[in-house]
Amino acid sequence: MPDKNFRRTELGGKPLHPATQMTAYGYDPALSEGAVKPPVFLTSTFVFENAEQGAEFFDLASGRIPVPEGMGAGGLVYSRFNHPNTEIVEDRLAICDGSETALLTSSGMAAISAVALTYLRPGDSFVHYTPLYGGTEALFGNVLPQWGVRPVPFTDGTCKDAVLRALEEGAQTGPVKMIYLETPANPTNALIDIRLMREVADEWGTATGQTPLIVCDNTMIGPVFQRPIECGADICVYSLSKYVGGHSDLVAGGITGSAKHLKPVRQARGVFGFHLDPHSSWMLSRSMETLTLRMERAAASGRKVAHWLATNDYIPCRLLHPEYESDPRAQEIYRRQCDGPGSTFAFVVEDDRDLAFRILNGLTLFKLAVSLGGSESLVCHPASTTHSGMSPEARKNAGVTEGLIRLSVGLEHPDDLVRDLEQAFCSARDSSQSRSQVRSS
Ligand SMILES: *Cc1c(COP(=O)(O)O)cnc(C)c1O
Repeated sequence: MPDKNFRRTELGGKPLHPATQMTAYGYDPALSEGAVKPPVFLTSTFVFENAEQGAEFFDLASGRIPVPEGMGAGGLVYSRFNHPNTEIVEDRLAICDGSETALLTSSGMAAISAVALTYLRPGDSFVHYTPLYGGTEALFGNVLPQWGVRPVPFTDGTCKDAVLRALEEGAQTGPVKMIYLETPANPTNALIDIRLMREVADEWGTATGQTPLIVCDNTMIGPVFQRPIECGADICVYSLSKYVGGHSDLVAGGITGSAKHLKPVRQARGVFGFHLDPHSSWMLSRSMETLTLRMERAAASGRKVAHWLATNDYIPCRLLHPEYESDPRAQEIYRRQCDGPGSTFAFVVEDDRDLAFRILNGLTLFKLAVSLGGSESLVCHPASTTHSGMSPEARKNAGVTEGLIRLSVGLEHPDDLVRDLEQAFCSARDSSQSRSQVRSS
């Protein structure tokens, strides 16, 4: 249906920008009384025109016959399989991500679980970068081994040999089916070279006959600043609860990739019941209209905040922000792979929980909470919260020290955020000075 405006992808022979497509793509007002915006379709099931159509839609939904061109994901059957509000967001997410197709799920963890349950079987191994998001670490480290699936971690995403060693270790017990990545890493902002992972996977496939699937969690700066599919990843997973939802008011997940790779994942979503509800889907369609605007503004504010932190006169800070990276290899990956820094980054003060807590407790605009990517700015202390489940040694190896503080910069005016940090730093420093005076007197 390329002639229909709601499926328009180009104008005057030039492709439209995702920011333009997010306002209208995938929704046909003619199907809803001309309403300019999609209503929330609060329905569990859909009426067939006749019995033949019911049979056909079931064949389509269960993948027994291929979906004809122009029919979206197939006919509407039942809201666990497909739903108009969900499909609008899926079409838009695929556009933002530069992928052929997309699926929504009830959470980011449901997206990751659906991919793992689709592609990993008892006896298989897979390799993964570490540290990962805490929930993913728990799924890989505690749950999948109970299903007979073996995870092998690696810690350097810029070094071919490190990945090869992990693949060889995994291959000792079974076929290595997946390379799982998350970049930039949380909370260190370490970058993984996705193109290098593609090279390693293909070479490994040629040598062993088993090419591992490359899956990348693109929650931290995607889809606006990074498109892993274009760098060679097979599948992206998202927590849409973060930047894409963008207002800290919903929990949802997404999966992007080729129709071939996502077809079995779609089946898994249907049988496990990992689908997203209509209302959250509708909220996402609304959020996506402002996605580029929000992420660009938050990244610009994040730059201002990072600059203040790096140059402040109160407390010395080391920035874990991609644009303050000193390693030339990481600088090169950042330039090649990312279009911007995002707005979630960390700074590191002296390795001292007391000092870190005084800074956290002194902030007034930054809210003390886990999560990221909302319109409000958040601050958290990973060592005592999100990463407290790791052993102290694993935390140290990952660089998650007591002095590391993570910020998610939101949409407030950046000057106000800097002022908030300034007053918190000033009082944290003054109380450090008065403590050391008490100690020395
Ligand atoms: C939050 C998050 C997840 C999990 O997403 P939920 O929507 O909370 O299930 C996965 N990966 C990353 C990087 C995250 O930040």
